[in-house]
Amino acid sequence: MAIRIDGKALAAQVKERVRQEAERLPRRPGLAVILVGENPASKVYVNGKEKDCAECGIISFPYKLPEETTQEELLALIRRLNEDEAVDGILCQLPLPKALDEDLVIHSILPEKDVDCFHPFNVGRMSIGDPVFLPCTPAGVMEMLRAYEIPVAGKRCVVLGRSNIVGKPMAMLLNQADGTVTVCHSRTPDMAALAREADILVSAVGRTGLVTADMVKEGAVVIDVAMNRDENGKLCGDVVFDEVEPKASYITPVPGGVGPMTRAVLMQNILTAAKAHQK
Ligand code: NAP
Repeated sequence: MAIRIDGKALAAQVKERVRQEAERLPRRPGLAVILVGENPASKVYVNGKEKDCAECGIISFPYKLPEETTQEELLALIRRLNEDEAVDGILCQLPLPKALDEDLVIHSILPEKDVDCFHPFNVGRMSIGDPVFLPCTPAGVMEMLRAYEIPVAGKRCVVLGRSNIVGKPMAMLLNQADGTVTVCHSRTPDMAALAREADILVSAVGRTGLVTADMVKEGAVVIDVAMNRDENGKLCGDVVFDEVEPKASYITPVPGGVGPMTRAVLMQNILTAAKAHQK
């Protein structure tokens, strides 16, 4: 039976370290949180991030904007926040309403305040192994592997999904940790056979029931990044937990796995931004 990786407990430790360090800064770190529109999932995520900030001694400045906010209005707000000395980090919750250009918005945030690590400058720095900020979800996964002393060097790693925010940076970090990485996506033939080769299998697709026991090698480490809703509206991952757990050596639950660690790394990034800004 697999050891369950307790993301909640690890995240609490990370956040406590952030709180202690934040306390020693000349002024409390500040995060501007922009939410445009009424997306219910986005509201939940933003509330969670504001709660984390409060726990870590970080001031959050909320900007809740209406659905009909124009591109120019949003860019004007970001320009103002880029200049604001009290704001160390800027987070614009995605997805944005369809009328707004997400890339343009991400690119308008000053790289030194881009605590989500979405700006091409920060993605580039991370991809050459010289990061300013860490990509929150993949770095949260790496932190879990480190905390449970799960070696990556020399291991076969298979990442399901290749999005810019999860799959691609996840593959990069595993590669930088000397894993041998295969990335699968919607056009990958026989993904199950590739997944079965994995010593470390990371699923970041967003499809309930995708990863079944027959796709998992005996003793593999299984990391479930996905946050889906099942037919009863209950939060779940891509992995069929009950059938994969007996086969894996380590497994992350959903909820209580990668999600809390993602939020904890965000807090670390805000601290990093504040330290650089307040130097
Ligand atoms: P995304 O942008 O929709 O990307 C999904 C990826 O999965 C794409 O690369 C897509 O391939 C691939 N894919 C789709 N169907 C597939 C299939 N049948 N077989 C293999 N690959 C397939 O999603 P995302 O933003 O990366 O998020 C993925 C999941 O992680 C979601 O459930 C999301 O809610 C969750 N998430 C969790 C956290 C957290 O903190 N735990 C953070 C972020 C995201 P193509 O590129 O070919 O289209």
